Amino acid sequence: MSKKMTKKLVIANWKMNPVSGKEAESLFKTIVKNLPTLKNTEVIICPPLIFLDKLFKIRTTKIKLGAQNSFWGEKGAFTGEISAGMLELLKIKYVILGHSERRALGETNLEISKKIKAILSVGLIPILCVGDKERDENHEYFNFVKVQVEECLNGINKELLSKVIIAYEPVWALSTTENRKNASSSDSHEMNIFIKKILTDKFGVNRELPRIIYGGSVNEKNILDFIMNGGIDGVLVGGASLDSKKFLEIVRVTESI
Ligand code: PEP
Repeated sequence: MSKKMTKKLVIANWKMNPVSGKEAESLFKTIVKNLPTLKNTEVIICPPLIFLDKLFKIRTTKIKLGAQNSFWGEKGAFTGEISAGMLELLKIKYVILGHSERRALGETNLEISKKIKAILSVGLIPILCVGDKERDENHEYFNFVKVQVEECLNGINKELLSKVIIAYEPVWALSTTENRKNASSSDSHEMNIFIKKILTDKFGVNRELPRIIYGGSVNEKNILDFIMNGGIDGVLVGGASLDSKKFLEIVRVTESI
């Protein structure tokens, strides 16, 4: 069986930034204008929901848009929530789910699993975030990630498994974590192999697996190392995605490999 050629992913998580539509538009336009021709890389930007429509209207084939969360129910008495079907109306393709910042607000693996199923059911692509909060001497962190992957993907339609993107994001390495530490490309590589093992144990060896990307303080300086040696299909970029120069350099380096 020939190996399917897949593009590397560079996904921007803007989180709750920038604070105005004008700034969001300006950042997006600068990125669109300066993006090189892309053959090997898919660029996805996940802005706050409120800016999605505005950015969609800046028509470009170079960038796909995504959301940062969604809800599992289809409709009804869920104040403040947005369903997968409603996101589909915004013509986006990707949805980040289970980000550690949402988990810190109380989101559970069970809820994330329901959200993943809802997103897949409308044909969108979930970007499932998993990641250890800390590294311990007994290597319990492996088990922590294993439980996250297993529980979040529990009961998923196996035919849709390959649509999922898994972002390994060690919380201790995120740029916003207090007393953060640098994760290395070998940390990423090791966890990538481990996640693939969890997936093959759970779903069988003959399945096309989710793509696995890395996130945690990726910037224009370390991107080469992560892409070359991290064993990954791409990166999820937080802080550095809000700086057009840094983000464009991350894309340029990824495309050059
Ligand atoms: C994130 O929080 O998803 C992330 C990748 O953040 P940063 O790149 O800022 O560490």
